[in-house]
Amino acid sequence: MKKEFVVIGLGRFGGSIVRELVRLGADVLAIDTNQEKVDEFAKIATQAVIADTTDEDVIKSLGIRNFEHVIIAIGENIQNSILTTLILKDLGVKQITVKAQNDYHARVLEKIGADFVVHPERDMGIRIANNMMSSNVLDYLELSDEHSIMEIKANDQIAGYSLIDLDIRAKYGINIVGIKRGEAIIISPAADEKILLGDILLVIGADVDINRFVKKMM
Ligand code: ATP
Ligand code: ATP
Ligand code: CA
Repeated sequence: MKKEFVVIGLGRFGGSIVRELVRLGADVLAIDTNQEKVDEFAKIATQAVIADTTDEDVIKSLGIRNFEHVIIAIGENIQNSILTTLILKDLGVKQITVKAQNDYHARVLEKIGADFVVHPERDMGIRIANNMMSSNVLDYLELSDEHSIMEIKANDQIAGYSLIDLDIRAKYGINIVGIKRGEAIIISPAADEKILLGDILLVIGADVDINRFVKKMM
């Protein structure tokens, strides 16, 4: 069975989600009030329709409640975003992801039952700033406000040493859960695994601890 999604709001963020879901093989119903946006996505999405999702009857007629996951990517019109979320939640849509414009918007969305609230501009800013601060931190995945998984490139300060030599968990409270070495990936490396120059370490832990490790070792 193909995965089925609805994307409401075809701005840059919503549009990019539609393209990627389609590329990954999903069925996507794309919705916007704007005729030009809908025309643009008619060739890309499985189905593209002009509709105002703040109208409950319209939502019912489109059968949106039968989809597994709805993404609400209405950014600037916070009222429309909130109203759409409320209507869909009342109709019993199981999973709703909503793009928040600011922290107050996010708090309202969480109160009315949005399942996932995302802050793409804020998060991308944080990510880019982190990458700029350390050329050795290649990427990271936020697990909570205070914990992440980071990809850290091994430099000559740690290359040649094993995990025991560096005593990483004991000293920093972080765990190396994998090592990417060229095409290969070593999952759960043994304590005596030697790190090579250019290895990419997959590190999990509290942000403060990972940053301590990066500052000390990089
Ligand atoms: P971007 O991702 O480009 O930054 P944005 O977050 O600034 O976009 P907007 O441009 O405000 O978001 O809205 C995205 C789209 O949502 C617009 O194309 C707009 O027409 C559409 N939209 C706004 N209100 C509704 C609604 N009630 N029903 C359906 N679509 C809507
Ligand atoms: P611990 O003393 O932390 O309980 P342990 O008794 O399991 O570790 P080893 O597995 O032999 O001992 O590892 C010795 C030390 O090597 C650990 O204390 C830790 O500092 C470091 N180490 C081993 N594996 C990892 C890992 N995957 N990530 C980070 N550090 C590790
Ligand atoms: Ca915007």
